[in-house]
Amino acid sequence: MERQFDVVVIGSGPGGEGAAMQAAKHGKSVLVVERYHQVGGGCTHWGTIPSKALRHSIQQVADFRRHALVRSLMPQIPLDVPTLLRSAASVITQQVEMRHAFYERNRVELATGAARFLDPLHVEVAGADGALTRVAAKHFIIASGSRPYRPPDVDFSHPCIFDADTILRLPRTPQSLAVYGAGVVGCEYASMFKGLGIKVNLVNTRSRLLSSLDDEISDALAYHLRDQGILVRHDEECERVEAVDDKSVVMHLKSGKQIKCDTLLWANGRTGNTEALGLAAVGLTPDARGNLAVDEHYRTKVPHIYAVGDVTGPPALASVAYDQGRFAARHLVDPKSSHQLVKFIPTGIYTSPEISCIGPTEHELTVAHVPYEVGRSPFKSLARAQITGQTVGMLKILFHRDTLQILGLHCFGYQAAEIVHIGQAIMAQPGAGNTLDYFIDTTFNYPTMAEAYRVAALNGKNRLS
Ligand SMILES: Cc1cc2nc3c(=O)[nH]c(=O)nc-3n(C[C@H](O)[C@H](O)[C@H](O)COP(=O)(O)OP(=O)(O)OC[C@H]3O[C@@H](n4cnc5c(N)ncnc54)[C@H](O)[C@@H]3O)c2cc1C
Repeated sequence: MERQFDVVVIGSGPGGEGAAMQAAKHGKSVLVVERYHQVGGGCTHWGTIPSKALRHSIQQVADFRRHALVRSLMPQIPLDVPTLLRSAASVITQQVEMRHAFYERNRVELATGAARFLDPLHVEVAGADGALTRVAAKHFIIASGSRPYRPPDVDFSHPCIFDADTILRLPRTPQSLAVYGAGVVGCEYASMFKGLGIKVNLVNTRSRLLSSLDDEISDALAYHLRDQGILVRHDEECERVEAVDDKSVVMHLKSGKQIKCDTLLWANGRTGNTEALGLAAVGLTPDARGNLAVDEHYRTKVPHIYAVGDVTGPPALASVAYDQGRFAARHLVDPKSSHQLVKFIPTGIYTSPEISCIGPTEHELTVAHVPYEVGRSPFKSLARAQITGQTVGMLKILFHRDTLQILGLHCFGYQAAEIVHIGQAIMAQPGAGNTLDYFIDTTFNYPTMAEAYRVAALNGKNRLS
């Protein structure tokens, strides 16, 4: 039997959900096909949500441990990774239930199974019980996400070797962790596990941490990770991983160094989930990383087949995937629609300290010969930071010397990922609405972290005189 829909969405992560909801709101009949037994995608089950929930639990314990009164009442707070991971599980359940209700409320049909194209107008859905269903649609939106890249010569079945997906099923608390790859995921996990008092080596294949960040922020991250006791090694490449026994492995680096650990997290690159989609049947070929090329409306080169989210490559963020899904569906409904992502997408990096940035870095402005000035607000001088004891951090505003237009915001420390959105709103104002003066002339709640804007704006403006 063949079923017929206006739109078939493959994948129920943020990209698929955004697309499905938007298409349904415009009256389209929508089927979402998800091969995992629950909705939510990698975002809910293996990525954003569990990693942030785990981080929150670790930070709460670390805060308790720092608190003198709590320490005097309870000198030992026992900590083990499996228990902390269980606390993340309850958030996942809440997210799944909520997302399920969204689909029901918007009358989006869900099919559990793996989707594969048969031809440009049909997919086959293979259920876990082996049942095959043929589905026809006028439009398809591929939102199949990505997975950690696994080099063929590393044995991921070894009990000490994990990737970003499997680390969340760690059955024990490590004593020593080596993280290979110092991208966002590598830095976040290195920082989290150090928070548990575990010995951590962070192996970076590049010469700086997160080199797309503003130099000052990247330097601050390296300083604070080292200050917490993480051994950061730059410009290193793995030659091979040797299994000593089932309790430890040694990572041999091309430089001749050897790192022995009981847990290795391989966090070096991701691959788009395209190999099982039967793309040859529709004439699509992913690139070497398994990603699909799309135009500005998220159309692949087969115009009625769209692709959104991680499967289209960077920036590979849940926040972006959701909007791409919505915009693809809007275009599908109305080809004259021209919704685009905002010019400057914020970066939120949940290391300790937390990092968030938006807009060009100092280096980029310098290379582009933009006459900018800098205003800084170190958190240690904010009353709110002193009260909470969260004094590590800084907000830096980059603004045009002549027009006072805010060009970029770079922040690290407590609540950085929230703080940056205040400046983002002003940066998004048209014309003269985007001005540093807003922060000088505005009365802020006191004491708040937001006050950093006033301090940084005054600091910057004083440099002009
Ligand atoms: C550890 C970690 C931390 C992260 N933290 C953040 C963060 O803090 N903030 C942020 O914005 N982003 C974060 N991300 C990135 C974010 O998780 C992804 O960008 C986001 O999940 C991408 O959404 P998506 O919809 O493209 O794909 P996914 O969320 O991966 O969903 C894809 C879905 O498609 C399904 N699927 C695949 N193939 C098929 C098929 N053939 N048939 C049916 N279903 C299929 C999969 O089972 C999956 O459920 C993090 C990622 C990781 C790994």
